[in-house]
Amino acid sequence: MRNLLVKAITFIYINGLYILLPVLPLLASLLFLKKKYIHEYVATVKKFIIHLEALREGSVSYYFSNLFNVVTEAPVEIAGSCVRCGECCMNKRCVFLEQVGEKEYQCGVYHSPLRKFSNCGAYPVSQRDIDRYACPSYYVIKQIPIKVVFEPNVSRS
Ligand code: SF4
Ligand code: SF4
Repeated sequence: MRNLLVKAITFIYINGLYILLPVLPLLASLLFLKKKYIHEYVATVKKFIIHLEALREGSVSYYFSNLFNVVTEAPVEIAGSCVRCGECCMNKRCVFLEQVGEKEYQCGVYHSPLRKFSNCGAYPVSQRDIDRYACPSYYVIKQIPIKVVFEPNVSRS
């Protein structure tokens, strides 16, 4: 049932974005308070097309699957530090990603509070996450054992 829900929401979300494509640069400028998306309208539309193609490959269904707990994974402890390769930004295809060095990228909307509604700030949380974008830096140290806490017996009258 939840799988069906995820598929339906993913379909509506992605196709909704395709319908909105001509106004996405304007929306992006308004939402992220950056004029460049509307100033560079044609380039931004082209980047959005690439972005939407990348979304169709699984990012959106992955996000909604996590949101609706379709996939449950044991918590893990992760170590490493980001080398800003940009791979986890949909293999460098996110419209908001900006190149700042020969092999270095940064998020162009990093400071927006709207990022909280995406899973951008929570990467990676599992080995599956690391593998998904072949992150060259982070790695799993160990699984965190799940503690089962037994409640004391409550006597009922
Ligand atoms: S893939 Fe890993 S190293 Fe590269 S930007 Fe993402 S978190 Fe950083
Ligand atoms: S962190 Fe920024 S650039 Fe990377 S996927 Fe998220 S919004 Fe895009």
